[in-house]
Amino acid sequence: MPYDYPAEFAGVLATFRDRMRFSVRELGQRAGCSHSQIVRAENGPKVPTWNVASSILGACGCGKGALVGWRAVWQVAKDAERELLHGYEPIPGREWFWVAARREWDLGLKMASKPNPILTRLRDLRDSNVLGIAIRTLADRSDLHSVRDISEAAGMPKSTVHRWLNASRAPTASQLLSLVAALGATPEECDAFLDALRQLETPCAEPHPDSKLPCVRDHRHRGWHLTGGGTRWLDEGLSLEMVMNDYRPNARYLKINNAKAAHRSASS
Ligand SMILES: [Zn+2]
Repeated sequence: MPYDYPAEFAGVLATFRDRMRFSVRELGQRAGCSHSQIVRAENGPKVPTWNVASSILGACGCGKGALVGWRAVWQVAKDAERELLHGYEPIPGREWFWVAARREWDLGLKMASKPNPILTRLRDLRDSNVLGIAIRTLADRSDLHSVRDISEAAGMPKSTVHRWLNASRAPTASQLLSLVAALGATPEECDAFLDALRQLETPCAEPHPDSKLPCVRDHRHRGWHLTGGGTRWLDEGLSLEMVMNDYRPNARYLKINNAKAAHRSASS
C-alpha cells in the first residue's frame, strides 16, 4: 500500500522538462530557479517546496487550472515523504493514510490533466478569431489584461496589437512569434500559434461547381466562396441575394431583351 509518491512526483517534473526540451539551465531561467533546485527537484530524495515545483510546472506550460491539480499531487508526495521516513511498511494504525493518498493522487492527476486552454483554443479553428482569443488567454496567464499591457510587454504599437486581437488584421509569422514569446508562451505553445496561423492562411480551395476553379478565401470563411477571377457562389447553390448582387447579363443578352421590350411596348 505505501508507494513512493515523492519519486513519482520527481519523475513528473523531469518528464515535463523533457517534453519541453528544456536544458536544466533554460528551465532554471524560465522558472526563476537555480540549477541545483531543478536537479534536486527532479532527482529527490526530498520533495521540492511548492514554490519551486509550481515555478517549474508553470514554466513548462501548466496553466492555473492544471496547477490546482498538481498542487494536490504535490501535497500527497509531501505527506508521503513524511510517512515513508518509517519505511515501506505502513505505520500500524495509519493504513488509512495510503488509501486516502491514492485517492487524492488520482484526483489531482485528473484535475491536472485538464488540457492547456491555450492549446485547446488553438486547435479549434472554427472560431474566426481564434488567434485573438488565444493571445488574450495567454496574456491573462501573465496577468496582462489590457491591450496596453499586452502591447507594452511585447514592445509593439497598441493599434497593431488591437487589430490582431480583434482579427481585423493577421500578424506575420515572425510578428506572432515575438508577441507570444514576449507574453510567456512555452515552445509548445509558440508552435501551436504558428501552426494555427498557417492553417488560417490556408485557402478554402472548394472548387466552383462548373469551372472547378478553387475558392481563394481563407478556409474558415462564411458565406460566398470566391474564385481568383471574382466568381462567387454558395454551397447551397444560387440564392436570390446572389442573383441580385452578382448576376451581370452580357451586352448581347441585354440588347435582345431591350429589343423585345421595345417590340412589346410598340405593339401594345
Ligand atoms: Zn470557399
